[in-house]
Amino acid sequence: NDALGSGRSVELFEADRLAEATWELSLHARIDEGLRNGEIWLAFQSQWDMRTSELCGAEALIRWNHPTRGPIAPDAFILQAERAGRIDALTYWVVDEAITATLALNSLDRHVQMSINLSAQMVDKPSLVANFAEIVRRRNIDPRLLTVEVTETSSVRNRPAAVQNLSQLRAMGFRLSIDDFGTGEASLAYLADLPSDELKLDRRFVSRLMTRDRERHIIRSTIDLAHALGQTVVAEGIEDEATYRALADMGCDVGQGYFLGKPQAFPEFYKVFLELGRRRFGVV
Ligand code: C2E
Ligand code: MG
Ligand code: MG
Ligand code: MG
Repeated sequence: NDALGSGRSVELFEADRLAEATWELSLHARIDEGLRNGEIWLAFQSQWDMRTSELCGAEALIRWNHPTRGPIAPDAFILQAERAGRIDALTYWVVDEAITATLALNSLDRHVQMSINLSAQMVDKPSLVANFAEIVRRRNIDPRLLTVEVTETSSVRNRPAAVQNLSQLRAMGFRLSIDDFGTGEASLAYLADLPSDELKLDRRFVSRLMTRDRERHIIRSTIDLAHALGQTVVAEGIEDEATYRALADMGCDVGQGYFLGKPQAFPEFYKVFLELGRRRFGVV
C-alpha cells in the first residue's frame, strides 16, 4: 500500500508540474492586458550611500498581481516574455514608468539615482540604443540619473553587439551596472570587455558574509578590484545590521536589502522619501 500511495503522489506531483509549466507558458499572452489594466506594476527598493547613510537611489523591480493567481515572481514571467518575444514591450514600459518616478524624486533638489534591469535578450538588439535615445528625448530626462543593470550571462546571443550597445548607452550618459556579480559564467571577462560604472555583489555572497570566511574574502577582494577599476560597489540582499556594518567597514559604497527597505509601490516609497527629508538612516 505504501508503494501505491507514494506512486499516486508522484503522479499528482507530475500533473501539478505539468499544469504549472503550461500555465507559465501561457502567461506571455496576457502581458499587454496586464500592462493595460494595472496588474503589472513597478516596485521601488531604496539604495543607501554607506558613507553618509543617505538614500541615494532606488532599483525598479517589476511585479505582476495576477487576478486569479496573485503575485507572480518576475523571474518567471520575464523568462516567458523573452521566449515569446514580448520582452521589448515590457522593458520599455518599465523604462518609461521608472523615468516618471525618477523625475518626481529629483524634482525636490535631491539627487536620486534610478536603476533599471535590462534582460539578456535585450542587450544585443539593433534597436536598443535608438529606442533609449528616443525615450530620453521624449521624457526630457538626464540619462545620468538612470543606471542600466545587466546580468552577466551566456544567454546573450551576440556578445560584440551587446558590448557595443552598452558602450553607446554609456556614452549617452547612462550609468552601467553589472548585476549579480560573481554568479554568471564570465565575471572577470565581463569586467575586461565592458567598461562599467557599478558592480553589484550578488546576495548569495552578501548573505553568507557573516558566517563564512570565504565569502568575506571574496567580497573584500571584489570591492578592491571594483575600486581599482573606478567602479562603485553596491551590495544587494542586506538583511541585518551586522552585515550592513561589515560591508561598510570593507568600503562598500552603496547598500540595498530588506534591512534597509523592501521593494514598495511608488506612493509608499515616495512617502518614506519625503519623511526622510535630510534625516539620515539610523544605523551608522
Ligand atoms: P535583481 O535585479 O538581482 O533584483 C534583486 C532581487 O532581490 C529582487 O527580487 C529583490 O526583491 C530581492 N531582494 C532585495 N533585497 C533583498 C533581501 O534583503 N533579501 C532577499 N532575499 N532578497 C532581496 P525580485 O524583485 O523578485 O526580482 C528578481 C529578479 O527579476 C531581479 O533580480 C531581476 O533580475 C529580475 N527583474 C526584476 N524586475 C525586472 C525588470 O523590470 N526587467 C528585467 N529584465 N528583469 C527584472
Ligand atoms: Mg537588478
Ligand atoms: Mg541583483
Ligand atoms: Mg538577482
